[in-house]
Amino acid sequence: MRIAIYPGSFDPVTLGHLNIIKRASAIFDKVIVCVLVNSGKKGLFEPEERVELIRRVASGLANVEVDYSTELLASYAKKKKAKVLVKGLRAMSDYEQEVQMAIINSKLYPNLDTVFLPSSPKYTYLSSSVVKEMARYGVDLTDFLPREIIKDVKLKTETEEKQEGAAE
Ligand code: ADP
Repeated sequence: MRIAIYPGSFDPVTLGHLNIIKRASAIFDKVIVCVLVNSGKKGLFEPEERVELIRRVASGLANVEVDYSTELLASYAKKKKAKVLVKGLRAMSDYEQEVQMAIINSKLYPNLDTVFLPSSPKYTYLSSSVVKEMARYGVDLTDFLPREIIKDVKLKTETEEKQEGAAE
């Protein structure tokens, strides 16, 4: 069985991510979308919440699983018996760092290779940070986010702003 892992922060999952998830699910027998937890960086959503949002938008894809991990990605891949990492490439600026990571990962786990999928032209401009910025300004998010999660992102942004306001 060809198992691939699609790792990232997914804070939150965007239409760009979902496009990669769908395309990977058509190529591999199983795709594990893995939210990587970076202890030094607090996100808008907690890792468990990000997992729940991805599960909701990928619920129609039978061979897609969603998980999160605090482990080193290469160790996680080994544990899951995955031999492929999937990465989306938006621009040449993504390329340099992604190739460096791919080489490091294959050194840590020699059976692990990285497959790059070019971003759909519709989504090359899209990142979770851009979405969070737009949400703060109350912009319509339908071009950026799967519709099932727009409410959650709006609500979370508002809650965070209230907390920040109260702390000042
Ligand atoms: P970001 O916070 O920049 O959206 P993530 O760490 O969540 O990034 O991204 C996880 C993976 O998804 C990475 O391989 C990244 O290159 C890819 N990705 C992110 N946004 C897009 C997009 N709009 N189109 C294609 N791939 C993307």
